[in-house]
Amino acid sequence: MTTIAIPQADPARSYRAHAGEIDAALTRVLRRGRYVLGEEVESFEREFAAWIGTRFAVGVGSGTDALAIALRAAGVGEGDEVVTVSHTATATIAAIEMAGAVPVLVDVDWMTMTIGADEIDAVIGPRTRAVVPVHLYGQPAAMDALCDMARSRGLVIVEDACQAHGGEILGRKVGAIGVAGAFSFYPTKNLGAFGDGGAITSDDESLAAAARRLRQYGWDAERSARVAGVNSRLDELQAAALRVKLPHLSDALTRRRAIARRYSQALQGLGIVLPEEAAGTRHAFHLYVVRTEERAHLADELARRGVGTAIHYAVAAHQQPAYAARLRHGPLAMTDRVVAQVLSLPLYPELDDAEVERVIEAVIASVRSASAAFR
Ligand SMILES: *Cc1c(COP(=O)(O)O)cnc(C)c1O
Repeated sequence: MTTIAIPQADPARSYRAHAGEIDAALTRVLRRGRYVLGEEVESFEREFAAWIGTRFAVGVGSGTDALAIALRAAGVGEGDEVVTVSHTATATIAAIEMAGAVPVLVDVDWMTMTIGADEIDAVIGPRTRAVVPVHLYGQPAAMDALCDMARSRGLVIVEDACQAHGGEILGRKVGAIGVAGAFSFYPTKNLGAFGDGGAITSDDESLAAAARRLRQYGWDAERSARVAGVNSRLDELQAAALRVKLPHLSDALTRRRAIARRYSQALQGLGIVLPEEAAGTRHAFHLYVVRTEERAHLADELARRGVGTAIHYAVAAHQQPAYAARLRHGPLAMTDRVVAQVLSLPLYPELDDAEVERVIEAVIASVRSASAAFR
């Protein structure tokens, strides 16, 4: 077996890039002795809200919890229908069900691989309460069309921005456009912790307050629970580490985008479909995802050349055994096509220029060596 010299993701590199500062921050928390909901979480919530451009951020235990709690805080509950895509992390679907709601799936747009705004009308019914657009791979979904529709239909929009820290539409960051945004700090995400973590962003004060109650047993300031809650808190150690990394996030995004631009220049004309940035948007390039019907071949050839790849995601929600039988959905022809072709190349800010060129050479050589198959 060849060793993978350049893995598709490598979160340890982001630790090494700031190891001294991170160690100091963690030690500070350990010595202080307050480990849950203390000053690190409070400060991080303020700093992250400022970075996204919302009035509030609420730290929770994961991106999945952020979505579920944001939906509940936005008034979505038992029996309500929530429209989203099948081409996403299973987490999106799990979160909608955790909120007590019923996911209804629609197809994606071929170019952006995000929710097809035109598909939504056909599945809206009397129980539809919300839409969860997923800014998949860091590409912002078509929020303009969605916001217009949401206004005219009285629906709420909760953004799944778990892959899109720093994505923008006409200068506004995603997570600040819908009534709330949900972020994940899973280690490989654009802003990654060293374990699980998540946050809800919103300009709505009562939504943020409801999220704060829901994340801790439903308690209000007097420790009285008028709603049933859960236990989902961002912890002090993760918040302290995130506070070290947040000031570097803008530079990290610039680097992600520079690598993506270099890939897109160098990989043109090979017969594989490259990601494009939709007009008026700033792609956050959490992942650089190419498409080819010869995916298995390309992945094998790249592995032989020491370049790691991954598939996000090989099985769409409507194909997952636990969900397949009960999920309602419209036509998903584009989703089925996308799911069979997507392949993620290595992309993280710590990749150096020489590694980027090695990935490019490996992709070109892999496509050539399999050129018969690619035709
Ligand atoms: C990572 C992710 C989630 C879930 O986040 P966790 O922190 O792993 O719970 C939800 N949606 C999308 C699109 C994701 O990529």
